[in-house]
Amino acid sequence: MQQQQYALSQEVLRTDVAGMPLEWIDYRVAATLYHSGQVAYSCGSTLYRIHGGYSAKSGARSIIEVNSIIATEGDTRTLERNRERYTPPLNNRTLFKRDANLCMYCGLQFRTSELTRDHITPISRGGRDAWTNVVTACRRCNNHKGGRTPEEARVQLVAVPFTPTYAEYIYLKGRKVLADQMEYLLTHFPRTSPLHARLRDALAEANGERRAERPARAHR
Ligand SMILES: [Zn+2]
Repeated sequence: MQQQQYALSQEVLRTDVAGMPLEWIDYRVAATLYHSGQVAYSCGSTLYRIHGGYSAKSGARSIIEVNSIIATEGDTRTLERNRERYTPPLNNRTLFKRDANLCMYCGLQFRTSELTRDHITPISRGGRDAWTNVVTACRRCNNHKGGRTPEEARVQLVAVPFTPTYAEYIYLKGRKVLADQMEYLLTHFPRTSPLHARLRDALAEANGERRAERPARAHR
């Protein structure tokens, strides 16, 4: 049997040749990129080994090793030019993840199904449906605030809402981001990113768990 470290649902982080993060891809797309020779180099760990076709000459079957981070060839200058001005599309899944599933008014953590998108300045009052005017809110706080501004409702935000950069947005979009992918993305976040602390905590936890999983060895 082949060694399968991760489920095939584990996504691969694709970057350009310069190492700038581009997107998450699944194992099929990754295998195609390897197969067509578009992978310039890969980093991170081996996620899985996929069987390719049989060689007509030798009858041997090719095996593609897919890594957690792969750098691919291709022209990404357009993207680079626009990266500075990039504003990611707003959706609840990434918004809730930006705010760590915390209600930005009461500061408590909720399940995704219990959260809502609150417009700090309500739309009815000229507020925009944009990253800096929206926060994660629990139903109770959202109902309480209603169509009022925070000042009118006498509530305060527990954190300042921000527009994610391209790299931050890729992190927020990831379904299950592995430790090595997290470390990689972290190096592309702005120094002032509020996500730094959170990712470091997650990494410390992952490292701690890894240590705990290792069998303890007695000193002699
Ligand atoms: Zn709340």
